[in-house]
Amino acid sequence: MQVTQNLCILGATGSIGCNTLNVVANHTDKFNVFALTGNAQISKLAEQIIQFQPSFAVVPTERAAKALKELLNSQANSTEILFGKQALCDIASHEDVTTVMSAIVGAAGLMPTLAAVKSGKRVLLANKESLVMSGELFINAVSEHGAVLIPIDSEHNAIFQCLPHDFTYADKASSGISHLLLTASGGPFRTLPLNEFASVTPAQACAHPNWSMGQKISIDSASMMNKGLEFIEAKWLFGLNEDDIKVVIHPQSTIHSMVQYVDGSVLAQMGNPDMRTPIAHGLSYPERMTSGVQPLDFSALHNFSFEEPCSERFPNLYLAMQASRDGQSATTALNAANEQAVEAFLQNKINFLQINHVNNEVLDKMPIQNLSSLEGILAHDKHSRDIANAVIQNLC
Ligand code: NDP
Ligand code: MG
Repeated sequence: MQVTQNLCILGATGSIGCNTLNVVANHTDKFNVFALTGNAQISKLAEQIIQFQPSFAVVPTERAAKALKELLNSQANSTEILFGKQALCDIASHEDVTTVMSAIVGAAGLMPTLAAVKSGKRVLLANKESLVMSGELFINAVSEHGAVLIPIDSEHNAIFQCLPHDFTYADKASSGISHLLLTASGGPFRTLPLNEFASVTPAQACAHPNWSMGQKISIDSASMMNKGLEFIEAKWLFGLNEDDIKVVIHPQSTIHSMVQYVDGSVLAQMGNPDMRTPIAHGLSYPERMTSGVQPLDFSALHNFSFEEPCSERFPNLYLAMQASRDGQSATTALNAANEQAVEAFLQNKINFLQINHVNNEVLDKMPIQNLSSLEGILAHDKHSRDIANAVIQNLC
């Protein structure tokens, strides 16, 4: 990339946001940090503002804006502080922004990411939930508004790297693609005895063996709902059908995903499990730049193993695959239910196995219907959350 990109990082204070700033700090000739957003971690945001001196910062409330200004105490006079949900959308679609890193967690990322898409930005998508919630509407908006969508989720970024350069959506047959292989680590409970699942703690579920990530995605990885969400994400990103996507457990997390071709070739993307690689790839695409990640040391890789995910151990994965087949209303409902259930598990209101129970109950109760408008999707999301909360309340 020759031209400096003006970067807006939605969710700068999170795991992906911090990794993005870590990469960008070594490439100040290519990237200007134009806007940063945070939610609860105001002091972390203040530190980032002081280091990167963005033109704008966004926080959730007027009170948070006041607290941030006090923390900055004139150390970043040129940064304008905005607040509220509309400000997130305004900044993501600001005319001076060229590139948006979408790294807010959960459904809260949908509206600002869509705002970036609708203003034709280069959108680096980490927030998989927005695509699970609104799949077709989101992908249609990308092509309608000339946005450039680059996957940051490591599996999808790996597949993006293994697909033909000229691959366009729904181009599977002419490209000779047999299917995609999404790899999964299996998370911290891959070998845990099944009778111990009900008593695992949030801390155990968050202790991922290979990746360091935010809390919500860590819990999703432990239940393999994360792979289920990624299955749906892959379907929309690459314009394929459910039968074209397979999931395989690869506990070493060295292969980040693969594309199998009809001639028997399998292209895999490998590397150390560090999100700075897909982030640097997305930022610099179609060029390459350093990410700060250590090169893969093959002499230290003792084995590569692969397993089928077991449906008894990981029911959420299969629930998500079925929801994908059932269509938009099911994936919107599942995403909403799962967010509420994970939050309740983190607050020790329900146990780990009950996450799946809540998801199942919501999918059973929500009607399968045609959802084509944003209003319809948001109403369906709200209704699903209400049901999830009622189920959680009963379990408490
Ligand atoms: P974190 O929880 O670490 O960070 C989430 C970010 O979103 C924080 O900046 C947080 O602010 C902000 N945020 C939370 N709630 C709101 C809200 N209601 N409104 C506005 N901002 C909010 O998550 P991760 O960085 O781990 O994940 C971010 C996204 O990227 C998720 O969708 C995840 O699935 C995806 N992803 C993450 C990977 C990883 O390695 N972490 C890998 C692949 C995908 P604050 O911290 O200030 O409260
Ligand atoms: Mg992933």
